[in-house]
Amino acid sequence: MATLIAGGTVVTAEGTLAADVLIEGEKIAALLSRDNGAAARSGLESVQEITRSVYGTASPAFEVIDATDKYVIPGGIDAHTHMEMPFGGTFSVDTFETGTKAAAWGGTTTIIDFAVQPKGTSLLAALDKWHEKADGNCAIDYGFHMIVSDVNDGTLKEMDACIAAGISSFKMFMAYPGVFYSTDGEILRAMQQASQSGATIMMHAENGIAIDQLVAQAIAAGRTDPVQHGLTRPPELEGEATSRAITLAKVADCPLYIVHLSAANALTAVAAARDAGQNVFAETCPQYLYLTLDDLARPDFEGAKFVASPPLRTPDHAAALWRGLRTNDLAVVSTDHCPFCFKEQKELGRGDFSKIPNGIPGVEHRMDLLHQGVVAGEITLERWVETCSTTPARMFGLYPRKGVIAPGADADIVIYDPAATQTISVATHHMNVDYSAYEGMQITGKVAATISRGQVVVSDGEFRGSAGHGVFQSRDLNQYLI
Ligand SMILES: [Zn+2]
Repeated sequence: MATLIAGGTVVTAEGTLAADVLIEGEKIAALLSRDNGAAARSGLESVQEITRSVYGTASPAFEVIDATDKYVIPGGIDAHTHMEMPFGGTFSVDTFETGTKAAAWGGTTTIIDFAVQPKGTSLLAALDKWHEKADGNCAIDYGFHMIVSDVNDGTLKEMDACIAAGISSFKMFMAYPGVFYSTDGEILRAMQQASQSGATIMMHAENGIAIDQLVAQAIAAGRTDPVQHGLTRPPELEGEATSRAITLAKVADCPLYIVHLSAANALTAVAAARDAGQNVFAETCPQYLYLTLDDLARPDFEGAKFVASPPLRTPDHAAALWRGLRTNDLAVVSTDHCPFCFKEQKELGRGDFSKIPNGIPGVEHRMDLLHQGVVAGEITLERWVETCSTTPARMFGLYPRKGVIAPGADADIVIYDPAATQTISVATHHMNVDYSAYEGMQITGKVAATISRGQVVVSDGEFRGSAGHGVFQSRDLNQYLI
């Protein structure tokens, strides 16, 4: 059975088009302009004509979805999530089932989650574990990056096996000494390996060695509130680590992708490297665009809800990040979705901010929060689609299967109502977490329907998908290199 999305405005990274979208099975079959010459046709009226033109006289039965006055966009790709992730003795509370369902509600049709290699274990064993968690449970498609925390001859070899298994990007940490931290020498070795294979190295760029000193000093001095999490991770130490990562990547000659960039200091370093022609890319996250250090300073331990690393910054940083999104020095918006409940999880850090699990929930609201940036005039409509779908598809080897509305692409499509309004709240969200970081925020725009590989997953305020519909996406190498 074919489906026709009729009457909408197709928005891509390149522009907008009055067109109907024909879906056959799991794929987009055709894009049918309603603006071809003198007889501009309205979608619903032209249905018979369109199907005749595609199928000849014997048109099959098909369903029509009315998208009049709505945007028709490629489904969102969230390239940074942490479902069921172990951290500080607990786990992030969204499973692959609940987290992908929430993502679908918010117009995301693919996530790329991080498989975690604990020190002393193998990358392929970590990959198996993440497949076990995800396979058969996801409402939308998914892929994995690999977190490399133990660099040795064995794991370096395994990086190539990971690429063969569809994992083409590897994340390393300059933060969290004793847990995920890698030395500059280890990072360089992994980058040299990536240079040979074409893989992309992703970097959590904060100077964790210096930060740990500031944290210890704060706690020794009795400064234990959540705001200290921000004050002990100053933007200079993100800027310094970002510069160092860029230098190491230059020496090793490998593509580098800075994850969750939050500080203007780091953005300056990325922009300079890009101006010099280096393959350096960066993402930011909605929390760094909309939330600030003041949220971390909320009284009665409320600030713990906003503890993530890097930390929330002062508003001048957010202004720089919006500018970076416009200039493409920030190419991607991901969420770093890593939900911990306020009760019992965030509360582990009462009396010691360093024990607050790091992470902010957000997988459901990325498309809405960035559309709000369109409403506010910070970015264009096309840039919204580009940073939230098209570029992540290219950056992580999913293009043109994903990230685009074109014949032959997967029918991952979101029908978005730009005029609808909503208020973000824990009372209405679908993430498995007991608070919203954006509680009470008014948004213009809302998902009307989410379609994943031709199947309607969300429409008319109802979840119509199923766990297990989502399939693993084997990814190619970076398609966004300079
Ligand atoms: Zn993360």
